[in-house]
This record gives sequence, C-alpha cells and structure tokens, in this order.
Amino acid sequence: MTALSVNRRTRPWVYRWLDRAHTALYPMRCRLCASPASAGLELCRNCAAELPWLHSHCRQCALPLVNAGEERLCGSCLRRPPPFQRVRAPFRYSHPVDGLIKALKYGADLAAARLLGDLLADYLSRRQVAVPDVVIPVPLHPRGLSQRGFNQALELARRLGVPLAPQLVRRSRETAAQSRLGGRARRNNMLGAFQVTARRMPAHVAVVDDVLTTGATATELARVLRRAGAERVEIWVAARTHQLDR
Ligand SMILES: [Zn+2]
Ligand SMILES: [Zn+2]
Repeated sequence: MTALSVNRRTRPWVYRWLDRAHTALYPMRCRLCASPASAGLELCRNCAAELPWLHSHCRQCALPLVNAGEERLCGSCLRRPPPFQRVRAPFRYSHPVDGLIKALKYGADLAAARLLGDLLADYLSRRQVAVPDVVIPVPLHPRGLSQRGFNQALELARRLGVPLAPQLVRRSRETAAQSRLGGRARRNNMLGAFQVTARRMPAHVAVVDDVLTTGATATELARVLRRAGAERVEIWVAARTHQLDR
C-alpha cells in the first residue's frame, strides 16, 4: 500500500513554478489576519494552530465525539453501518472553516478552495493515507454546474495532487438543496441521484466533497460505487458537522 503524499511538493513542476513565481511577486499574507503567511499556505502559523481541528471523532463517519479513542464508533454507525469505510475530515464545521466553505460555495472564492484543498492534502499526507485507485469529486448536476459555474468538490480535489476521475460517475437527476432538508428527507432526496458510467469500478475509491453533514450524499454515492464493484470507499471532506441524523 502506498502512503499518500499529496502535498504541494508532489504537484506537477509547472504548478510549483507558478506558485513560486506568484509568491515572489506577491508575498503571501494570512487570509485570516493578514500577518505574513507560513509554509506556502495562505495562513499564518497562529491562525493554522487555532483552526477547529477535528481531534476526537467516530472512527467511521468522523462525527465529532467527546473523548473518542481511535476505535470508537458513533451510535448511528453501530446501528446502520454506512457503505463507506471511512470519512477523513481535518476540521469541524465551525469558524473560520465554515466561512471559508461558504465563501467558496456561494461566493465563488476559489482562493478558499486552494487553502482548504491544501489543508486537506497536508492532513491526508500527515496521516499517510493510502493512495486510492481513483479520486472522484462529488458530481453536480449539469444544471447546478452551469448555475454555479464550478464544482466546489472538484476545486478542492484539484489541490490533492492525485489523478482525478470525475467521469466515472454522473449526477443522473437534479435534487433539492440538501441544506433545506432534515435527515430522512435528505436520504430520500439523494436516492437514485448518481449513476456510474464506468464499465469497471476500481477497487479503492476516494470521494471528495466540501463538507459532510448527515452523510446522505456520501452514503448514496458510496452505495452506488460499492454496487458497481468498489470494495473500499473513503470520503474525504474539508469539514464535518456535529449533526447526527442519518
Ligand atoms: Zn493569521
Ligand atoms: Zn459514525
């Protein structure tokens, strides 16, 4: 098993060169406090340390839990084991990460995607997460994509420095905005929302999204991927909410 090393050092040379050229022309400032940035992130060391890192959580769905050891499962995963093996989430969905995600999604702030994607890449790299066969950003429906102009999951995934395979799955129908629905309604809303277009699904798949709330989207997509032949599905998100309503 190859450990993931998806940090900026492994990105193609042309991007590294562009990053260096950009940094030389415009020295980076912390996005949150405007102090000089550190380590190639648009963030200073102090602000990075104060981010809402997700320390204690369910082993499977990453739901924040108090004093959870490495092996603890939440009640929801015990009652109804999800079709994905593991959620990887560096942050709790709270300030200032929630603001960065909203700026990306609703304000088309692609610099927020770069920062969150780099933080996710560093997190996966530090944890030596195994490289999956393919990485799939959660697809948007074509109509949603044309309204927003970009797919936030794809923008995050681009920063991971691993090959992406967005073409393996498509959104087969439009769904109501999940943010307006409760747990059961979210599940029903997502049923049949995805269709696998690949003839053969690789064994180990990672799905990338911005945030995991009830897990309805991740659960439905993982279910479809497993049915198509994937043996292991991980969900990689920037942030995990406290919600427990699956
Ligand atoms: Zn700062
Ligand atoms: Zn759980």
